[in-house]
Amino acid sequence: MNLYRKLRSRLLVVAAMLAMGAVMQSVQPSLPAAAAAPTPLEPRTVYLTFDDGPSRNTAAILKVLQEEGVPATFFVTLAEREQYPDAYAALCENGCRVALHCAHHDYSRLYQSPRSYRADLLELETGLQELGIPYERLVRLPGGSLNTRVTPKTLEQILDGLKQDGYTIFDWTVTSGDDGAEGQSVPVPSETIVQTALERGRGQLSPVVLLHDSHPFTTTPEAARQLIRAYKAKGYRFGVLTTEMESLVLVDLWENLSRK
Ligand SMILES: [Zn+2]
Repeated sequence: MNLYRKLRSRLLVVAAMLAMGAVMQSVQPSLPAAAAAPTPLEPRTVYLTFDDGPSRNTAAILKVLQEEGVPATFFVTLAEREQYPDAYAALCENGCRVALHCAHHDYSRLYQSPRSYRADLLELETGLQELGIPYERLVRLPGGSLNTRVTPKTLEQILDGLKQDGYTIFDWTVTSGDDGAEGQSVPVPSETIVQTALERGRGQLSPVVLLHDSHPFTTTPEAARQLIRAYKAKGYRFGVLTTEMESLVLVDLWENLSRK
């Protein structure tokens, strides 16, 4: 089995477990008595997340969120800082949250070593501080924690370092496929994105949905609108991710399942 297929089969297993609600309960670490219990993800609540922004699509995404009256969490970069300096502040309005993705979406540089990863993260945080943007110490790794662009050893060291330094780490439980096929920057029809997200999120009580705020993916705003309406019709509410929540790290869930 090649690496991609292996990864895909892992993801499918994790997704299936999430759908049954079994994983979240089985991997809850026992907390010391004095520690505050993390806030759980709310049942029947959708957590929309947008990666890679701001971009030229940010305004359209925010318009949809505002019109539909729902918040989302934005895992930002500094890639378009010069073009859209005011967009960061707009991401903090209407109940939305800014969280940490990366300064530069350059896999080979980012994942060279734990040190290069942290240098990039520090650059992002410094950039947001310079802009005066409030953000959550909530991190989503570029490519997620189950990605094959980083060696397992480097990944483990990166995750350990983040946990030790008190960051909350958040992958997703539903990929919407709005970023198209691997390596192709072609917009996907909004109906297809919605169908994919609903299919992959079927049975999940608290779906954390991955969408993108990125130049090529111009169909994402309309897809977000249709997805929001579909979830509303099912009686779901909408929430944002916070540092009070327990980290959701797919590679940890996978390791945990593998040991059983
Ligand atoms: Zn990304």
